[in-house]
Amino acid sequence: MVAVASSIERAAAGIKSSAVLDFLRKPKQLLIDGKWVPAKSGKTFQTFNPANEEVLALAAEGDRADVDEAVKAARRALEGKWSSIGPHQRAGYLLRMADLIEKHVDELATLESLNNGMAISLANRMTNGAASTFRYYAGWATKIYGETNPSDPSMFNYTLREPVGVCGQIIPWNGPISMFSWKIAPALACGNVSVIKPAEQTPLTALRLGELLLEAGIPEGVVNIITGYGETAGAAIAEHPGIDKVAFTGSTEVGKLILRASTGNLKRVSLELGGKSPNIVFADANMDECLPTSLSGFTTLSGQVCCAGTRVFVQRDFHDEFVERLTTRAAQAKAGDPLDPQTTIGPLVSKEQFERVRGYLDIGKKEGAEPKLGGDVRKGKGYFVDPTIFTHVRNDMRIAREEIFGPVASVIPFKDENDAVLQGNDTTYGLAAAVWTNDVRRAHQVARALKAGTVWVNCYNNIDPISPFGGYKQSGIGRELGKQSIDLYTQVKSVYLKL
Ligand code: ADP
Repeated sequence: MVAVASSIERAAAGIKSSAVLDFLRKPKQLLIDGKWVPAKSGKTFQTFNPANEEVLALAAEGDRADVDEAVKAARRALEGKWSSIGPHQRAGYLLRMADLIEKHVDELATLESLNNGMAISLANRMTNGAASTFRYYAGWATKIYGETNPSDPSMFNYTLREPVGVCGQIIPWNGPISMFSWKIAPALACGNVSVIKPAEQTPLTALRLGELLLEAGIPEGVVNIITGYGETAGAAIAEHPGIDKVAFTGSTEVGKLILRASTGNLKRVSLELGGKSPNIVFADANMDECLPTSLSGFTTLSGQVCCAGTRVFVQRDFHDEFVERLTTRAAQAKAGDPLDPQTTIGPLVSKEQFERVRGYLDIGKKEGAEPKLGGDVRKGKGYFVDPTIFTHVRNDMRIAREEIFGPVASVIPFKDENDAVLQGNDTTYGLAAAVWTNDVRRAHQVARALKAGTVWVNCYNNIDPISPFGGYKQSGIGRELGKQSIDLYTQVKSVYLKL
């Protein structure tokens, strides 16, 4: 314990906030049935600050036995008290949660940045975004309607929209607070209960959000939080016969495992998976907007974003000039201390991720791509990688086909609109895409032709809870956010009444 305590002080060196330090020093437990409990096995695992590689905390290592308890508690809540709580009251919980997130935004953002490495400015934006998501779904709780149907005169037929039931929600490390809100807010708005598992790399903010949910008055068992590893706790959620729906955000590889595991009891499944998004730049675009946004498109969160614009397609005649100008800007954007408000790029989340990105930088060079900028990881403490821009990339190279999850872009020339769309769509993924042009006809045509769940025109990475998000092809199944999440978290019952 002494060793961990001193490591916390080193891991969080420079942090003044007593709220953050108090939280870090407390034991981290699982939230089951409204109570904080250790894992049944008594095991814990280390979680790190990726900026200095120090142990930030020990988290409870939940596994199958803890998931079992959580599912039982969730089922009791679903069939008990929670089912008698009306939509206005559910809205009230979500609104209180939104207020609490805003009240604690600095503390939550600091914890997020310490555990994930994301720049504090981004952590602040994402935490405020989570409050907006809770508030948005609070509005939906009272607006989930069934229908009366034009049935035979001897019948009265209507539909009820009911909760799906116990939801297993597995979230990734790249936007822990944000992903928590995308999963929990719509699930509760629709009257479901949840067993949620944050990623093993970033368990901390979900635990703090669990405390805030209790403070908001959420009844026991409605939200249960199991920290632990994917292969154990995550797999137990995916397989569990007591779970009615599984919602997953993460890699395509694990998404396929989840889909397979869910067949045992035919769970409803929604998956938000990887991407290799095309960012298509026509020569007529406004470069003052396009250049900085294309740069942040692949460097935000150090490129560890499923919708990162990592394949930058540029109109051929304009390619060389664009590469020069993008490189000049990117050269100034070095990864730095994530807690510095000026920093825009922090370290990668983990050693594993750092090695993965290093591996892809080597693969790119071996494939014949040329790093116009970067091309290697940084030495020293912390998992820092500065932006890399590869040129001489063909769309069939591995660096252009596989998700790297680092601040690495491949710039590829295209001839015309048709060529841009063909190359942009030539990928197994389809999460997002962007097109930059001042020609309104072309903007709409290309937006329609791109096979992606989100298309940005003259912007990038804009996400609003009012609008659906999700993938074509191997980027996922289903859409989250907007009214689409209401469809994901409800099921329809048809009632016939003989008159
Ligand atoms: P990434 O590649 O971004 O780390 P993963 O898909 O590995 O994403 O992880 C996303 C989430 O899925 C994490 O919470 C992780 O613990 C969980 N996970 C990993 N493997 C499995 C699995 N076999 N079954 C269920 N969940 C898993």
